[in-house]
Amino acid sequence: MSTVVKGYLCWRCGTELSELRLPVSRREECSSCRAEIHVCKQCVFYSAHIANACREDRAEFVSNKEKSNFCDYYKPKADACQATALDKDKQAKLQAEALFGDIKQDKKSEQTIDPDDPEQAAREELKRLFGDDG
Ligand SMILES: [Zn+2]
Repeated sequence: MSTVVKGYLCWRCGTELSELRLPVSRREECSSCRAEIHVCKQCVFYSAHIANACREDRAEFVSNKEKSNFCDYYKPKADACQATALDKDKQAKLQAEALFGDIKQDKKSEQTIDPDDPEQAAREELKRLFGDDG
């Protein structure tokens, strides 16, 4: 028996994981960026600021936080994408600056950021850069 949940966002690209089934399969992946979903970074216990990046101290050590794991404590986090950000808007700006900083100065006419939605622009760029990773 499985439960379909909605409103869960991919930890990597932020795309909504439509019809995510619980319990999450280790083969589950984001339809947009192909990120695996049964990973630390999609988990409610994930925390980048602590040892092992896991708040569940009974969980076994997982070395790769972006690969599907066998952790018994895995529990999908709906807003994992936002949780990894310090501040959503701030991070989007920083990412956009880091990615487009040079372009802005040299090729203003080719600047691809939508001024009304810098976050989406940053996300698209990240997807382009890291989408085929793994
Ligand atoms: Zn994704």
